[in-house]
Amino acid sequence: MTEKNKTVGGTLYLVATPIGNRADISERALKVLSEVDFIAAEDTRNSGLLLSHYGISKPFVSYHEHNKYERGEHIANRLESGESCALITDAGTPAISDPGEDIVALCAARGIPVSSIPGACAAVTALSMSALPTRRFVFEGFLPPDKGERRRRLALLANETRTVILYEAPHKLKRTLGDMLSAWGDRRISICRELTKLNEEVIRTTIAEAVRLYEENDPRGEYVLVIDGAAEAATADEYPEDPEAHVQSLMDEGLSRMDAIKAAAKARGLSKGAFYKQLLAESEAE
Ligand code: SAM
Repeated sequence: MTEKNKTVGGTLYLVATPIGNRADISERALKVLSEVDFIAAEDTRNSGLLLSHYGISKPFVSYHEHNKYERGEHIANRLESGESCALITDAGTPAISDPGEDIVALCAARGIPVSSIPGACAAVTALSMSALPTRRFVFEGFLPPDKGERRRRLALLANETRTVILYEAPHKLKRTLGDMLSAWGDRRISICRELTKLNEEVIRTTIAEAVRLYEENDPRGEYVLVIDGAAEAATADEYPEDPEAHVQSLMDEGLSRMDAIKAAAKARGLSKGAFYKQLLAESEAE
């Protein structure tokens, strides 16, 4: 990259790449990939094929789970010396459930600029087509592989009212569905498979039905699971007695003040107007 047309020297660019369909890469992503000094890739072979499809040839360094500490230091040193680097991970947005997370933290700690070139992300792609509530959601990535830790994580999520998004490998899917059914009972689930690929499929069903389905069919391909949150009623009786504290607790969970007032009124079996009067009376009394 010559000094004249350099995008920004010494910056780490997180470049989102397709999660299946090669055409899902932005013009800006291709521009950055063709302008940086070098590319750090989780899988240099796969990324080499993608880049050669777009006529881009660049020096590669590998950066993955098993060399991320030593290689992260090496990349950060080169960035500090003024080179620019694009990080691409196996697929999708770097740093989302992949080792990109570590190099971003390292660069931030060393004051190295990081810039994200947005694009495909399997979690958001699945959520958008899940037909489940999308306004409030929680992304949990992969569940812990250890049985005890996985069950503890699921128990912690049992009263989560936001839509839950999980990544899962095909050979662990049956086990995860069984564990979810035991921990949460039956719920709506959208099983999103092979997104953006030829065999893209979304199965909108319930966890119990999904357990039955995979007793007869072996899971194949890449999966994102989108699961309905717990019913609001399950936690409604746990609200703070003080009306303002109740509203604040819902705002702390991410609701706007208006939505928090509506939800608190509903949980107390009051109309919005009646609950609003209680809030006003309380603030005037203070
Ligand atoms: N950074 C990536 C992103 O932005 O989505 C995720 C990386 S994570 C290591 C890989 C997991 O993402 C897979 O195991 C699968 O759960 C999910 N995934 C990636 N591509 C997918 C696709 N085309 N369809 C369904 N799930 C996919």
